[in-house]
Parts: sequence; C-alpha cells; structure tokens
Amino acid sequence: MGHHLELVGRTAAEIAALVAPHVDRPFRARQVAGWIAERNAAGFAEMTDLPLALRADLAERFTITEPATLQVVPSLDGSMKYLLGLADGVAVECVAMREGAKATFCLSSQAGCAVGCTFCVTGALGAGRNLRPAEIVGQYRRLLRDLEPDVERVNLVFMGMGEPLLNTANLGPALAALMERVSPKRVTVSTAGILPGIRWLAGLERRPKLAISLNAPDQERRQQIMPITRRYPLADLMAAVRAFPLERGRRITFEYVLIRGFNDAAADAAAIARLIRGIPAKVNVIPLNEDAEHFPGLRRPEAEAVDLFAVTLRDAGLTVTVRWSRGADVAAACGQLRGRAGGFAPASTQSGR
Ligand code: SAH
Ligand code: SF4
Repeated sequence: MGHHLELVGRTAAEIAALVAPHVDRPFRARQVAGWIAERNAAGFAEMTDLPLALRADLAERFTITEPATLQVVPSLDGSMKYLLGLADGVAVECVAMREGAKATFCLSSQAGCAVGCTFCVTGALGAGRNLRPAEIVGQYRRLLRDLEPDVERVNLVFMGMGEPLLNTANLGPALAALMERVSPKRVTVSTAGILPGIRWLAGLERRPKLAISLNAPDQERRQQIMPITRRYPLADLMAAVRAFPLERGRRITFEYVLIRGFNDAAADAAAIARLIRGIPAKVNVIPLNEDAEHFPGLRRPEAEAVDLFAVTLRDAGLTVTVRWSRGADVAAACGQLRGRAGGFAPASTQSGR
C-alpha cells in the first residue's frame, strides 16, 4: 500500500486519467476504469483481459482497497448488517435492506459521530474519524457484490454512522463516483442540520436528495436532544431548507424520531405541519429504537400512539411514512450502528486497547 495511489472512490474518468500514463495502448486505461468503476473488480488479478505483465505493473503503482468483512449479521426481516474493518483497524457498519429486486444500502460516512444527539448510539460513541472516498464507496461495492445478481436497483441512504455533512471533503468525491452508478434521485444524504454542509450540497451540480433529521418541532426541545441546534438554530435550518434547489418532482425528507412523552403529542404534529408548510416534503416518522445502556430514559411510543401521530400529520396535509426500523433484532436499525473497533480490530492494531 504505502504511497500507492488509491483507485476506488474515483470516477471512471479519473481512474482512466491516472492509469493512462502507465498503459501501453490508450484503450487499456478505459478498460481498467471499467473494471473498477463498473464491474466492481476487487483487484488487478480479476482483470483477465489485460496482459499479465501490465496487471503486475499496475498493482505496483495503484491499490484497489477492499474493507475486510469482520461480520455479517442477517436479520429476521432479511436485512443484512455488515461490520467492515478498515486499514487502520477502525470498524464501520453498513446495512443492506432488500425488497425483491430493489435494495437500499445504508452507508456510513464517519466511524462515530461528534454531533452527540442524545437518542443515538453512534452519537454516544463520540467522534470517529472521517471515512475516505474509497471507504465510503467500498461499502457500496461490498454490499453490491454480495447481492448481485438478485438486485437490479439500488438506493443509497447516508443514514449509517456519522454526519455526512461534517465530512464533505470525502463525501464529495464519493458521491461523484457513486452517482455514476446510482442516479442522484436514488441517493439521499441525511443530516442533523449542518448549515455550511447544506449550502455545499445546494451548490453541487448533480445533487443527491436531502433528508433533514428534524426530531423535534421547536428550538427548545430540539436543543435538548440535538445540541447542534444551539450552533445551527432551527429557524436558520428551515431557511436553508427553503432555499435548497429542488429538481422537478423532488421533495425534502424530514426524519422525525418519535420519543414517548417528549415529541409525540398531537400538538407536536400540528407544529411540524406549520414548520414545513409550503415545502415539498415528506415526513418519515421513526419510532425510537430504544437502548437501555445509552439512553435508558427514552422510550418508543406504543404502536397506537405512533399511528395516531402519523394520522394527525396526514390530516394536516402531509405525506407521511412510518419507518418501523428494519433490522432492529440485530441492532442494525438506524441510530443503533456502532463500530466495535475494540472487539473486532485486526490483531496488529489491538495493542494498547
Ligand atoms: N447524522 C445523520 C445521518 C445518520 S443518523 C443524521 O442525523 O441525519 C440517521 C437517522 O437515524 C437520523 O434521522 C436519526 O435521527 C435517526 N436515529 C438516530 N438514532 C435513532 C434511534 N435511537 N432510533 C431511531 N432513529 C434514530
Ligand atoms: Fe450523529 Fe446523526 Fe446520530 Fe445525531 S443522529 S449523533 S448527527 S449519527
């Protein structure tokens, strides 16, 4: 590895340009790019239509980094949680959720999260390092390779570990590479409301969809569970969302983690409706995934209360989905992702733990 140049996490054009000076015939560069950016090759050895000597030479100059699969945990509902090990021993999680030939991949952007929402297991872990483009795209490559050929269409959601808009330097190149393969309208970036990041996203030429983790209907309560609200107040967040350029037919998703007795009253539903009035939106209600260890005081409302909340939102004219998190039985559900670096790190990195 060392100073070898990484090829994963780049667009086909970028790969071809990097490789071009080192191939004998011009079309070889496109061949290599196709192997990596379209056919998911995990190494030069797979590129069987390249001369052996060229493969060996390229392997001396470039790397095609693959995360190590530390654990794959199937869930009762058919979703699969992956624990992937990165080169420095850090572990991150991603989840594949399948519905027939359609799949949604939930990807991580950081190995932890510094935002510190009080209802989130990743937040309880604290800050983790930013994932590099190869490590973000690597999650997609791993999940796709394992699910092909059963899956024909893939959606990507950045709802795994971390706050994607605190890692825009790596998210940008990763998105460029991913959106060559998955249409931007099937890619969603979810944020706790990092305003500079939302402005960055708004400025992209090819934009993925935006999801805002709203989680409370007013500044005061949002601040209680999402401390980032002090830094980026709700009013400013809503202004940034209203200014966000939306392609025809697109909507902003508002995620709303429903917490018993905290934000689940009928009046709260009415307040949400007022807050997002006029914005092409859908509301994704997520009944809290409880965690007795990290936030014992927070409970999921009863199913009837969840239904009533959704109905109240619908009656106010909103489009609503309820996400009874899938994969809860293996703790792969949203907000429960954690990389257990200590438990699964390769032997070489375990010293000192
Ligand atoms: N950091 C980004 C993306 C990752 S979190 C963000 O906050 O949007 C993805 C989603 O999981 C967020 O909408 C968050 O509100 C939700 N979530 C976090 N903890 C949860 C929990 N315990 N139960 C249900 N949803 C949770
Ligand atoms: Fe970070 Fe999102 Fe969890 Fe908040 S909900 S701590 S922003 S991962």
